[in-house]
Amino acid sequence: AQPGGKSESIPPPHRFDQDSLERYLGSRLPGFPRQPAGTLAVRQYSSGQSNPTFYLQKGGQAFVLRKKPHGPLLPRAHKVDREYRVQKALFSAGFPVPEPLLYCSDVSIIGTEFYVMQHVQGRIFRDISLPEVGPAERSALYLAMIETLALLHSFDLQSLGLQGYGRGPGYCKRQVSTWKKQYDAAAHTDIPAMNKLAEWLANNLPPDDSEESLIHGDFRIDNIIFHPTQARVLAVLDWELSTTGHPLADLAYTTQFYFWPASIKGLGQGSILETPSFEELVSTYCRCRRISTTLSNFNFFLALSYFKMAGIAQGVYARYLIGNASAENSHEFAKVVKPLAERGLELSKSSTQHSTSGELFHQSRKGQEILLKVKQFMKQHIYPAEKEIIKYYTECRNSEDRWKKPPLLERLKELAKAEGLWNLFLPDVSGLSQLDYAQIAEETGRCVFAPEVFNCHAPDTGNMEVLHMYGTEEQKKEWLEPLLEGKISSCFCMTEPDVASSDATNMQCTIEREGNSYVINGKKWWSSGAGNPNCKVAIVMGKTKNSSASRYKQHSMIIVPMDTPGLKLIRPLSVFGYMDEIHGGHFEIHFNDVRVPVSNIILGEGRGFEIAQGRLGPGRIHHCMRSLGAAEAALEILCQRAAQRQTFGKKLYQHEVVAHWIAECRLSIEQARLLTLQTARKIDMLGNRRARKEVAMTKVVVPRAVLKVIDCAVQVCGGAGVSQDFPLAFMFAYIRTLRLADGPDEVHLSTIARWELLDQSKKLTAKI
Ligand SMILES: Cc1cc2nc3c(=O)[nH]c(=O)nc-3n(C[C@H](O)[C@H](O)[C@H](O)COP(=O)(O)OP(=O)(O)OC[C@H]3O[C@@H](n4cnc5c(N)ncnc54)[C@H](O)[C@@H]3O)c2cc1C
Repeated sequence: AQPGGKSESIPPPHRFDQDSLERYLGSRLPGFPRQPAGTLAVRQYSSGQSNPTFYLQKGGQAFVLRKKPHGPLLPRAHKVDREYRVQKALFSAGFPVPEPLLYCSDVSIIGTEFYVMQHVQGRIFRDISLPEVGPAERSALYLAMIETLALLHSFDLQSLGLQGYGRGPGYCKRQVSTWKKQYDAAAHTDIPAMNKLAEWLANNLPPDDSEESLIHGDFRIDNIIFHPTQARVLAVLDWELSTTGHPLADLAYTTQFYFWPASIKGLGQGSILETPSFEELVSTYCRCRRISTTLSNFNFFLALSYFKMAGIAQGVYARYLIGNASAENSHEFAKVVKPLAERGLELSKSSTQHSTSGELFHQSRKGQEILLKVKQFMKQHIYPAEKEIIKYYTECRNSEDRWKKPPLLERLKELAKAEGLWNLFLPDVSGLSQLDYAQIAEETGRCVFAPEVFNCHAPDTGNMEVLHMYGTEEQKKEWLEPLLEGKISSCFCMTEPDVASSDATNMQCTIEREGNSYVINGKKWWSSGAGNPNCKVAIVMGKTKNSSASRYKQHSMIIVPMDTPGLKLIRPLSVFGYMDEIHGGHFEIHFNDVRVPVSNIILGEGRGFEIAQGRLGPGRIHHCMRSLGAAEAALEILCQRAAQRQTFGKKLYQHEVVAHWIAECRLSIEQARLLTLQTARKIDMLGNRRARKEVAMTKVVVPRAVLKVIDCAVQVCGGAGVSQDFPLAFMFAYIRTLRLADGPDEVHLSTIARWELLDQSKKLTAKI
């Protein structure tokens, strides 16, 4: 690794007396060529902002010099003597660092303290996506890097002779308070996420904060010299921030780029690696250190890493404001503080602490507690109520009360609310990650009306997400609050009878501005839940034509109270003959000169598609999560029936074909669940946008798998399976609609193919 510049390019503040250095090295550094005098070539490395580093060459020999910067320095920073000490200890222990050759505290030689080390010839990768190599080599290089980190953390401080190198136990606590102080000193505007993150970190310090290993503090791929042709680490550089502390802080820092917010680009870490995966890196680290793959509190360390990055970004911007920043793009750093802090907060809530293999989909402690409570609630209240509630819907079918909710259901809602099992789908309210919620939603999906008991049912969940994300304060107060309290319900009106609505740009319903109102005209159908007398509000999507805008900026969403004159429920639509009273029916609704105030528009004219993307965010796989519960219930019915009934002298399950169905059903459920959990995890870690392919895959795979299980169950149950005595027929009808209602399979398949082709082309480019 050699610097690109020439000696003349050393900027004035870093220049020093080269003759004096040459004389000194000639007398003190064994093997340093003495003759001919005046031929020492010195060039400065451009990377690294902290301790200036120089490439020295004389008589065919190369060395590297690292020195303190000139001028006044912070008391604890730029300690080159510490760098020298730690490198010396590590080199003696066989760890890959450049061999430190000489330390000089005499400031008369070049103006500051410095040390000289061996020059290591090899490769340094400045771009973390390693565009120079193919996926297999990239994977090998990253794994070599992580093995080296594990080796570093395996050393005993005493055997290295580094007792007292750090500041003792309490590293995490110190880090939180240091970065908080630095951030506060540099803050130029109030960023609530940063304050919340600081508070969360301070309140959630890991219980093993006394753990002390030697840590690097800035362990990144561009601080590593690799072998010129092999995936082997020759040297780890830049030990300025090394200290003793919790090793997971290093691991989180090294892997943090996997979670980098998509909104931040151009600051060196915008690209995300597919190979190796985060899991591969972490499991390799754990294997090398012989520690459990359950990295408890890893979310704390990731959140801390983001807090630190946000603090650093704020500091760079503060220095820019006073005209003292070295980086050219330092003015851009102000923009990244908020997204970094927000990502830190998200990570604090996520379940990434359990990161590998068997523990891959481990829930957070809160998630586990709530799941347990939901399971108990289901046993204690929901299953015993099933018969009565289904009977109510059956008996009211031909009466005026047809669309009303059974009183028992309302009582169950009150009970669930009192137990805090309420609005679990919304992370900002429940504090649960998608991974946490996936397992809870599956449990509630075992009974068709249970999601409503916990206020976690469609379409209210999607509508609440829209209002939560995009609503004004007034809109939230008027509609979101009563929805969250379960006092009212809602419907969503997008699909139209006269056009193919899977391409939503076909939509014809108009939303036209007239003075202080919008006037809505058009026909909608499949508005689920509109029959419920408690359905008080619709979110309607229509065209607010702007002929100059793109096809995707012509539509808007607007809030329409259900009692607005001109809004008329035309008829309920049946689903395979069911009127689906349990879900409030699916209605055709006409809008004739329906007038609402302009303040009812959500986010603004032309923003409908943007909202639709958000609405179909995490909520997009909630149906899938729930339907896995239905599959489990169906398989239970199948097995019970197969064990009860007998044909041709054998129990049904003793016929091999039935046994194989049972096995196939279990395979399908497990595969579908793994994909669902993987998608939930990816949403938690990387956000909806980066999980688009997985979301689409889940929406195709899960309904197919669940339908297969229900179909087998129907077959094993015989005639009973399609009758009203078993829930299977309704389950089948309901789950079959998911292959349309959440967007037809074909549309998802096209999305998956598009992303797959894109991913493949990236791989190809990397190979070239
Ligand atoms: C039970 C249920 C509840 C629903 N709830 C709601 C609701 O609350 N609010 C709401 O607005 N809507 C709701 N819908 C409507 C649902 O969103 C639509 O049915 C769906 O978006 C498809 O639109 P469409 O019916 O107009 O079908 P079309 O757009 O006419 O599509 C018909 C078929 O064309 C094929 N096709 C479409 N695009 C492609 C393609 N790119 N490649 C290949 N083939 C393609 C597919 O096979 C598709 O099934 C619900 C539907 C059901 C069944």
